[in-house]
Amino acid sequence: MTHQPPVLPGHRIGIVGGGQLGRMLSLVASEIGYDVAVLDPDPESPAGRVADEHLCAPYDDESALTWLKTHCQAVTTEFENVPADVLEQLSSQCIVSPSAAAVSIAQDRIQEKTFLQRHGLQTAPFSAISQPSQIAAAWHALGGGEAILKTARMGYDGKGQSLCGTQDEVDQAFRAMGEVPCVLEERVAIETEVSIVLARSQDGQVACYPAAENVHTRGILDYTIVPARINPSMADKAQVLAVKLAHAMDYVGVLAVEFFITKTGDVLINEIAPRPHNSGHFTQDAADTCQFEQQLRALCQLPLGSTQLRSAAVMVNLMGDLWGVSGEPDWLVILRDEQAKLHLYGKKVPKAGRKMGHFTYLAEDVEIALDKALALKQALSEHSGR
Ligand code: ADP
Ligand code: MG
Repeated sequence: MTHQPPVLPGHRIGIVGGGQLGRMLSLVASEIGYDVAVLDPDPESPAGRVADEHLCAPYDDESALTWLKTHCQAVTTEFENVPADVLEQLSSQCIVSPSAAAVSIAQDRIQEKTFLQRHGLQTAPFSAISQPSQIAAAWHALGGGEAILKTARMGYDGKGQSLCGTQDEVDQAFRAMGEVPCVLEERVAIETEVSIVLARSQDGQVACYPAAENVHTRGILDYTIVPARINPSMADKAQVLAVKLAHAMDYVGVLAVEFFITKTGDVLINEIAPRPHNSGHFTQDAADTCQFEQQLRALCQLPLGSTQLRSAAVMVNLMGDLWGVSGEPDWLVILRDEQAKLHLYGKKVPKAGRKMGHFTYLAEDVEIALDKALALKQALSEHSGR
């Protein structure tokens, strides 16, 4: 992309994908004075419902893409499974970030891990598997401990993964996944999981948020603690690695990098997301600039905002499971607490494992934020509004 003048408020931005990340970007962009168009085939998509325009069509719909190209000055995406050639096509006529090339690396675990290794960025030991005959060598290369088989594409929230304790189990899991390309990865002994969310501008400036500590339950992010309670030198190391990666990818936009800090003190990159990330939601309430504004700024080639933390925070995901027992949770449990901030995504149908919203608890001290947030989470699961 050659250097273009900034896209200023009053212009229209496009978002490919209408989930909660697109919704939060759309809301921020509207607030700053942009018009927003969202492309998503779901008539009830969370972002489509708040945007100025909702193009209700498949992501590769020719006329919708032509509309986006002609009516938007800049287009971004909010999920990594958008077909990369859609972004390529849009970039012929308007600013697009992140690039199709960056998104396609993040879409495929084999490409992603190979890219990381090639740039000297350490991952968990892994082998690519695309046919059954490769399983034995991959299994032995990992040393015979527990391993995780992950589909190369389309996995998220722990989906498309299988924990294997024997080579036979890998065989079975590979078959169960339909023999699609996979990575077999050593199950590492994790001390802490952290993520770094950063924004990189077209001219190579980087603004990095502090390391966030992530707690997963059944492979899905449960809550995020900020700042991460890790040795500051580890947090610095994670930031340095994330910035190095962003430069290596010549990345433009918001990038999230997930890390495993192992019991032996290694800092490994787990995966990357070419967009704002669930573990960066704390920035909405606890940082000078939120990750969605940062995405808008990077996309529109505006100066990046400050990533300074204003307070310690704990972000708790609100999963559809909460509705399971007694219906709509009693939101007053959260709304009456002055330090808690509620964010719901406007999804009509709660399902187990579906992200319906989140809340963020702010406190001066991170341990207090954690205690209070977990107490609210517990109280919410005990009280329903109906
Ligand atoms: P997803 O795309 O579903 O987020 P991840 O690869 O990030 O997939 O895996 C989800 C979670 O599963 C991780 O956050 C971590 O808790 C656990 N996990 C994944 N890979 C490993 C591994 N190699 N060793 C130990 N735990 C892992
Ligand atoms: Mg992950």
